[in-house]
Amino acid sequence: MNTVDALVDFLNRIDGQGYKAYKGLLGTWAFPDFALHVDHVQGDPFARPSRLRVILPPEAAALEDDVLSSPSRRLGVASLLAKRFHEAAQKTMVRRGSGKSGLIEIETPGQEVFAQTAVIVRDDGTVEARFRIGLPAQGRRARGHEAIALLTTDVPAVVSESLHAGSVGHQAILRHALTNEDADALRAELGARGWVAFVADGAKLARASGVDDRPLLGESAVPFSTPAGLTQEVELPNAGTVRGMAIPRGVTLIVGGGYHGKSTLLRAIERGVYNHCYGDGRESVVTDSSAVKIRAEDGRSVAGVDISAFIGTLPQGQDTHSFSTPNASGSTSQAAGIVEALEAGATTLLIDEDTAATNFMIRDRRMQALVPKEAEPITPLVDRVRSLWETRRVSCVIVLGGSGDYLDVADTVVAMRDFRPADVTAEAQRVASELPTGRETETSGPIEAFRTRHPDPTSVDPSTAKREAEVKAFSGPSLVFGDQTIALSAVTQLVSRAQTLAVGRGLLLARDRFMDGRRSVSEILTLVMQVIEKEGLDALDDRSVGDLAQFRPMELAAALNRLRTLEVCSTESVGPGR
Ligand code: ADP
Ligand code: MG
Repeated sequence: MNTVDALVDFLNRIDGQGYKAYKGLLGTWAFPDFALHVDHVQGDPFARPSRLRVILPPEAAALEDDVLSSPSRRLGVASLLAKRFHEAAQKTMVRRGSGKSGLIEIETPGQEVFAQTAVIVRDDGTVEARFRIGLPAQGRRARGHEAIALLTTDVPAVVSESLHAGSVGHQAILRHALTNEDADALRAELGARGWVAFVADGAKLARASGVDDRPLLGESAVPFSTPAGLTQEVELPNAGTVRGMAIPRGVTLIVGGGYHGKSTLLRAIERGVYNHCYGDGRESVVTDSSAVKIRAEDGRSVAGVDISAFIGTLPQGQDTHSFSTPNASGSTSQAAGIVEALEAGATTLLIDEDTAATNFMIRDRRMQALVPKEAEPITPLVDRVRSLWETRRVSCVIVLGGSGDYLDVADTVVAMRDFRPADVTAEAQRVASELPTGRETETSGPIEAFRTRHPDPTSVDPSTAKREAEVKAFSGPSLVFGDQTIALSAVTQLVSRAQTLAVGRGLLLARDRFMDGRRSVSEILTLVMQVIEKEGLDALDDRSVGDLAQFRPMELAAALNRLRTLEVCSTESVGPGR
């Protein structure tokens, strides 16, 4: 390993030389309390900044045993340290020349906590941070002296402020560790107790704004209060007893007036598939980890999805057992979304009237009278939710303030009023029997098996004219895959750019290793997730990059399913209850 003195010598020597001279930085440099790895040097001052890692041995990071003792605790710690690194970098960095000279940037986690590669905390207490710096330039010449300041002053200052337990504070680190462990324990209880979600008393569900995922603070934020009738208690390993609303499996309806907090509750449930950091307000809001938000997304492409359970033969005789279109309607996109989610292993579906296709959700008595069944290909979800639950054991949580037709099919009804929930299940049943809808149920049969899809690997092409594989992610989110751009803004459980990029790399892995024209979508998803489970996120990229984050098979499926070139062949059939 080279010493810091050698680094300084080298940078003094190349001061004023062509920018390419920085390539000599590649390799490992021994600093007093960490090793600095320079993995990639940018080609010019305006290019993507250079890729570096620092590795702190356990004695330098000085994390105590109690924050390292479980994988879950370590993830909570890593996520906190990545945020602290970002904050310290923001404070420390100064402009050191043209272009991106002097920049220090790290991929920062948001409110959700999951495995990511920006900061990794190993079980022995080793801490690794992966970040980028802009090597200083004057025009196109290396500013070696500025680089000395950046590498031997700025970077060590950021490291010591953010990756040393002493500077971050043991109590803060411990809180993040324990919070994350509790959330995992709480989610594990869901399955055991037959719940799809748990929302703790006092949780802060509202967000600062539509573009700011931090909690809404101040007097106006109404903490969640548990409705009598749905109150349950869970014993957590660290926080002790937590009380909250448990949403049981089956069909749940969230009703209430406009602007009374229905969508906010559903959004918290939707994000509850992930843990949240200490201070987020949703630390004890957890959801079945395979719950999928379903929405209408007209205009998206659909490849060979069996939507026949929801949508019968379309105009011009188009068969819906293997439905493909470059331009789905609201209802067909929503039907495809459900079937694709089940294919990816979803056992809970989350639907909000705000983002649903009305004709997919309901068809009332008058419309049944006006438009004969033969002229309406859609079997509305109201006639399908019971069968989803009873035949396939798939639960639904549906926000619906605009139609009472669902009262007949709901097991549980929660009403939101002034941001406070009430259990109105009994009242809803009374209303349903006193005021019959007069609707004809449009189908009584169980949901038949869906056909299995087998992707054609040649239709999933990551190459471009210039590169063998091109995968890039943008917040928004969208994913560049080869020559395609996959729009993912309707995939609301994809929560960070790092997650989106990891999904793109997962798609590449799926294509390279598992798609053979015979394997089914669900087999391929399982195989990719197994690789990550076994080898970690670094299995997705052999360059030790810092911008990957954990994702679920559902989001990997969502990206594959929105790839406009995707072609599949489909066969009979996945039986119910898979
Ligand atoms: P709905 O879906 O019932 O129409 P929303 O969930 O969209 O209502 O909420 C309406 C507004 O109220 C939003 O601006 C939201 O951020 C805010 N809000 C929701 N829940 C709370 C709460 N518990 N405390 C304070 N504001 C809230
Ligand atoms: Mg709403």
